[in-house]
Amino acid sequence: RRRRRQREAEDERKRKAAAVIEEVEQRFSTPTALLRGIADAMVEEMERGLRAEPHAPLKMLISYVDNLPTGDEQGLFYALDLGGTNFRVIRVQLGGRDKRVVKQQYEEVSIPPHLMVGTSTELFDFIAAELEKFVRTEGEDFHLPNGKQRELGFTFSFPVHQTSISSGTLIKWTKGFSINGTVGEDVVAELSRAMERQGLDMKVAALVNDTVGTLAGGRYADNDVVTAVILGTGTNAAYVEHANAIPKWTGLLPRSGNMVINMEWGNFRSDKLPRSEYDKSLDFESLNPGEQIYEKMISGMYLGEIVRRILLKLAHDASLFGDVVPPKLEQLFILRTPDMSAMHHDTSHDLKHLGAKLKDILGVADTSLEARYITLHVCDLVAERGARLAAAGIYGILKKLGKDKLLCDFSQQRTVVAIDGGLYEHYKKFSACLEATLTDLLGEEVASSVVVKLANDGSGIGAALLAASHSQYAEAA
Ligand code: BGC
Ligand code: MG
Repeated sequence: RRRRRQREAEDERKRKAAAVIEEVEQRFSTPTALLRGIADAMVEEMERGLRAEPHAPLKMLISYVDNLPTGDEQGLFYALDLGGTNFRVIRVQLGGRDKRVVKQQYEEVSIPPHLMVGTSTELFDFIAAELEKFVRTEGEDFHLPNGKQRELGFTFSFPVHQTSISSGTLIKWTKGFSINGTVGEDVVAELSRAMERQGLDMKVAALVNDTVGTLAGGRYADNDVVTAVILGTGTNAAYVEHANAIPKWTGLLPRSGNMVINMEWGNFRSDKLPRSEYDKSLDFESLNPGEQIYEKMISGMYLGEIVRRILLKLAHDASLFGDVVPPKLEQLFILRTPDMSAMHHDTSHDLKHLGAKLKDILGVADTSLEARYITLHVCDLVAERGARLAAAGIYGILKKLGKDKLLCDFSQQRTVVAIDGGLYEHYKKFSACLEATLTDLLGEEVASSVVVKLANDGSGIGAALLAASHSQYAEAA
């Protein structure tokens, strides 16, 4: 009789697990028709943002970049890239049309977590100190003409209301940064003051979002790049817009007729987005509730956390990891997206690598094969939804640009989408799904002229290039 009771309990547990999974499958499903609707909603929101409609979720920020790099840029330039878990300092010697990038060096420093939630001065002092150290290691291969000041492109990957190419005020922090007193301040002024405190004589020639930097770096490498997307800790996109299609632009019409727009698409929201209870509680408990809704369904900071929440539900309702819920599973953000990716890519028949990860991270020693397969399936559902939603966003941009159709003149113009960010670069199942979905949305024929390209650290080089074209010594065009 005891065995029968055990079997019944076991069946009940399986039923509960199946019920949770089935619900997640339904809530997370993104049929192509839904993605088309999301792309259309994205286009509508882009237009509302360009008109500066009140409460438009997409800020569609004007970057003051109206010319992308040509290849003629010359000289020594620095770049500083702040916005994810790491920040990077770069120097590059640009040799102009024929020589291009003569030499480039960089250093990457991870940001001590306490600085992400500390004070503005502490953060900027830390950055300026690292930059100052880096400048001191400048060798013979780099050349700054006598009497000239060093110049910097500052990639600052947060929403900024730009007041010129080299100034702008922070609108809000995202991605786990939360520092009092910076919102509303000019981040270039903050950085410049910190550089002064370090005794570093350097001028910020360009302030750019990472998407804009990636677009610039992408265009330098390939003339057909029209949009850049970041899929990393956070997510966002920038693209080249016709200046006369930006109703809120009140300045002179740029000679190029173009203006790069930083969409800040991470803040996209729509009733069409398949938001689940897990997304809602994640948002509610986050540092920025109500903000960055699309980002919270897609980007590297959040995917692992969504998986954790689903596994926690399964542990509670269906004893997925045994009779007690592993205490570590209750810990916010304990399951990072790189770990999720490692589990998701386990191809061993008994999922032993996935099992080892669960043990490492959650401290659950012997997981059942069933629990491991369920975990794999959950990773799949969460990654696939994120990748498909990102593909819908890209499809929306291509629609806005009129690049979703075959050109009637059969010119077969390539359209290149430059993508950067660790999520896209390292999470192969994510990037493969994104690309397949984009092909599906565009149709094979159009898709054959659309190229999705990894722009590895395009944003650093891009910022240096924009510093070059906006240098105080550059001849006015
Ligand atoms: C920020 C964007 C940035 C993106 C990718 C988002 O959280 O709001 O400005 O481009 O992350 O780094
Ligand atoms: Mg980055």
